[in-house]
This record gives sequence, structure tokens and C-alpha cells, in this order.
Amino acid sequence: MTAASLSIITRLREAGATLTRSDDGRVRFSSPTSIPADLLAEARQHREGIAAALAAAALPPRPDATPETIAAWAERAAAYALDGYEAPEPPPDWSEAESERLQSLMRKMADGYLRAALRRPPSWWCAEAHRPTPGATCTFCGGARWWSRDRCGWYCATCHPSDGLTDTEFEEVRA
Ligand SMILES: [Zn+2]
Repeated sequence: MTAASLSIITRLREAGATLTRSDDGRVRFSSPTSIPADLLAEARQHREGIAAALAAAALPPRPDATPETIAAWAERAAAYALDGYEAPEPPPDWSEAESERLQSLMRKMADGYLRAALRRPPSWWCAEAHRPTPGATCTFCGGARWWSRDRCGWYCATCHPSDGLTDTEFEEVRA
């Protein structure tokens, strides 16, 4: 998947288009208004990348995929899901119990998206010093303890124990 494909998908959606991927892997756009010709031409050119991006968001990775791939997918799927999500309004003739049931279902969905978005690979690196997002869990073991030497690279304390380092050489946080 390329940044170009993701940018085209975003612009198509902004133009009011709906993108779907059929079972044979082809991408179809439908739009209530006309899509600018140059954007359509660009989309045709990146058809395969767009199909791959849609597939990545729709299909879970294979079980033998790397933890990084699984974490990236989970974040992307959560972002895609939230992007197109509109909370339904309960019809006015619904009873209080029915409205509450709907709200509880929506809370569960939001919790699920949040959990997916907070999954992190067993180790990662970022040029800027940072701390793991509160609530971040390891995709591999589900652990929530992370350690770092420099606050740029973070490691899951279970998957990558800080063996051999003294207490002053690293910092550990519980996300
Ligand atoms: Zn882990």
C-alpha cells in the first residue's frame, strides 16, 4: 500500500464517492456527484494500490504475519471504521430500554475500536522521544509494560526483557 493510494482514497471520499472492493479484487466507485476528471484519472492509475489499501483495511492479516503487520492493520482498521462511522439516532418511538440497548452496543463498538487502536508491536522506534500511549498493549503477548533506554525506542517487557541492564540504564512504564 502506498501513501499515494491512501491520499487518493481520502480525496475520493471527500468528493462524496463510496469505494467498494468486489470479491474478485476490483475497485468500484460510486458517487452522487461527478468526481473531478483528474482525480478519476489518478485513481485509475493507482487502481491496484487502492484495491490493496481497501483489502488491508477489510481483511485481517494472516496468522503468521509479523506482529508489526498485525498492529498496523489493527490501527488502520480502527481508523477506517471510525472514519465512516455515524452514530445512529434511535427512532423517536423507541422505548427507553431499546435506546439504552443501542447505546450500550455503541459503547462496546467504541471500546473495541479503541482497544484495536492501542495495540503496539513488541518493539518500535520513533525519532522523537515519547512515551507509550496510555493503555497501549503488545500485539504479541497483550502485556502493558514497556521499557526504553532513550525514550525513542520502546520494548515490551515480556517479549524483550531488559535482561543485563541495570536499573539506571533504562526506564520502565506501565501503559
Ligand atoms: Zn509482548
